[in-house]
Amino acid sequence: MSGVPVVVVHGGAGAWRGLSLEEFKAMVRALEEAVYGGLEVSRSGDCVDMVVEAVARLEDSGVFNAGLGSVLDYSGSLTMDAGIMAGSGGAGGVAVVSYPRNPIKLARIVMEKTPHVIIAGPWADELARKLGLEAHPGPSARAIERWRKLKLDPSASPWVESRVKAARALGYDTVGAVASDGKGCLAAGVSTGGVALKLPGRVGDSPIPGAGFYATPRIAVAATGIGETIILSMASLKLSEYYEKTGDVEKAATMLVEEHTRIWGQGTIGVIAVTGEAEVAAKYNTEAMPWAYARLGEKPTINGLPNTVLP
Ligand code: ASP
Repeated sequence: MSGVPVVVVHGGAGAWRGLSLEEFKAMVRALEEAVYGGLEVSRSGDCVDMVVEAVARLEDSGVFNAGLGSVLDYSGSLTMDAGIMAGSGGAGGVAVVSYPRNPIKLARIVMEKTPHVIIAGPWADELARKLGLEAHPGPSARAIERWRKLKLDPSASPWVESRVKAARALGYDTVGAVASDGKGCLAAGVSTGGVALKLPGRVGDSPIPGAGFYATPRIAVAATGIGETIILSMASLKLSEYYEKTGDVEKAATMLVEEHTRIWGQGTIGVIAVTGEAEVAAKYNTEAMPWAYARLGEKPTINGLPNTVLP
């Protein structure tokens, strides 16, 4: 089994309420295409290529809160975070960027072409521009509409006393992927518009190695949920440590989510993981976390879908 390439993707842990049937179908299609894309790349590329391809497809789908579908901050601006890590040790993250269509590609550049781990704001955008990355076309009509509705709701303010309560109420559905190329290369990547109505300048867990993502030569992990809780718990690093202790990825993911729920409550986290043995795990304490996986040659298996879809 360990010689088989495998890709796991997710479309974000959250409530996923109010989806139309059309949106639901588009979401399932986007997850499948991301898995197929990552596996296709495994024929010529390594685990980093696989993760970048899978995440870029999710960013391009416009269905999720990442890339084209990114939600807006309190001021109505679009700013995104992304991160990637290879099991061989390198990591790259970008925070509060608005220029690139695919922040995951910029995170990869930070990992491979700069001596840094995280680059934020206008200088990260400048790097993307200088290196010729494709420009983001601007917020989607759906993101603008969602922002308008949220702004009209007096309870939807980033100023409420509990960050967790605020984020949970406003929703989050970032994207992530983990992959093993079957030859000992493991990688994890995530990309997000952050939580809706976040304060301008807010940075979540997605550009931070150990928090939103982590990879070793034995396991790759990607997290989703309320970034503040994931940063404080270093969730992805912790899951990899639980795996080292137990040797069981399913058990490690369960331990991590149960502990996170004890500390932060329900509705705060979801994780996906893959091991060098091509074992896969996904756990979440939210109502749904659409996720999909396949090994090369298989059809994607889809799980964690919301059960309330509007007619
Ligand atoms: N973790 C992301 C953030 O807090 C949001 C998400 O997972 O949807 O920025």
